Amino acid sequence: MAKDGDPLESIYRATLATWGEEAQYDQMIEECAELIASLKHLKRGKVEDQAIIDELADVTLMVGQLTWMFGQERVAEAIAAKTKKLHRLLLAEGES
Ligand SMILES: [Mg+2]
Repeated sequence: MAKDGDPLESIYRATLATWGEEAQYDQMIEECAELIASLKHLKRGKVEDQAIIDELADVTLMVGQLTWMFGQERVAEAIAAKTKKLHRLLLAEGES
């Protein structure tokens, strides 16, 4: 679960208790879609950087929420494995 002293843990817990598990998945999907749309708008000059920053904040909060729900240690292990894979890919690129 969340690491000791995570200041957002009480918010994650309250959010889950208030709106439930399915709503968290739906909110994550919605926030990711909003970030995607904002990035498309940024490329076309329709929004300023702040729109991206705001959407990144929303997605970051939802990543925290779902990470807490699925287990911080499990996600940390997956991040470590993927980081290791990325490092190997970068090394291979450097050799070509
Ligand atoms: Mg949003």
